[in-house]
Amino acid sequence: MGRKLARLLTEKELDKELLTELFDLASTLEHTRDNRLAGKVLCSYTDEESTRTMTSTQMAMLRLGGQYIHLPSAGSSEGKDETFEDTAVTLATIGADVLALRRRDEESIFAAAARIAQLCPTPIINCGGGGMYHPTQAASDLYTIKRVRGTIDGLKIAFVGGLNNSRTVNSLAYLLTQWPGVEMYLVAPDHLQLKASLRLYLNDHRIVFRETTSLESVLAIADVFYQSRIQWNHDANPEVARLQKPPYVFNHENVSRMKEKAFILHPWPRNQELAREVDLMPQQQYIKLMHYATLMRMAILSNMLA
Ligand code: ASP
Repeated sequence: MGRKLARLLTEKELDKELLTELFDLASTLEHTRDNRLAGKVLCSYTDEESTRTMTSTQMAMLRLGGQYIHLPSAGSSEGKDETFEDTAVTLATIGADVLALRRRDEESIFAAAARIAQLCPTPIINCGGGGMYHPTQAASDLYTIKRVRGTIDGLKIAFVGGLNNSRTVNSLAYLLTQWPGVEMYLVAPDHLQLKASLRLYLNDHRIVFRETTSLESVLAIADVFYQSRIQWNHDANPEVARLQKPPYVFNHENVSRMKEKAFILHPWPRNQELAREVDLMPQQQYIKLMHYATLMRMAILSNMLA
């Protein structure tokens, strides 16, 4: 293994060379059970709901012989007005070998990381920060694409649905720019379109991308459809945003019209934008993605701690 990750706060810490090593390591770890993280402890903490990321990160730790402590936010001293920064410093100081943190806002994980770096250098994994950052999910998405298609080069990726505040879309689109020939379709109504700053970044890096409101127009073109629910929980007015109907719904009828070998990813949770009937179709890879995500997190933890 070449470069070691000292922390993983944003997808910008992952380059193609390291990701390729992580893909190989993830695949090796799928069939090798060893205890390379014996004696290591991960502490996890989040102020936002998490079903997959936290359990998959904890599972990855256990699968490699390590252990974890999860501090439920409902029982933490944040309820006594302790700052998140102090909470994170505490978890690092009591002996964690790595922290897995998720936060509703984008910035506080960076502030905590800066403080921890001064006091007790413990690696931090950003397990979801606001509507911007989700590096381990993006690495898992890429690994899934590689496993399913054998390559990432030259693929046409359609991002579909609630793109504006989707941290998984944001992080994945950024990472995809490192693979040659990748083209992107940004399928969303204007108010849910990808952040302007990221579109500018794609432009500046000469990535071929097209914005469209028509899923129909790319259905027979894209190789990978990456769907995101409307990110109503990151909206300034969540209760209103929550009532919006999804602009596009994948169902048996439209999925059947995709290209041969085309497939759908979705980071879940799904709301109404993905019909359950699609779960039984060969074009869905979003359930397998959860398995690959545990392998990718095993690879990341192994890179950091072993
Ligand atoms: N589970 C993903 C996340 O944490 C996707 C989502 O919430 O829609 O960002």
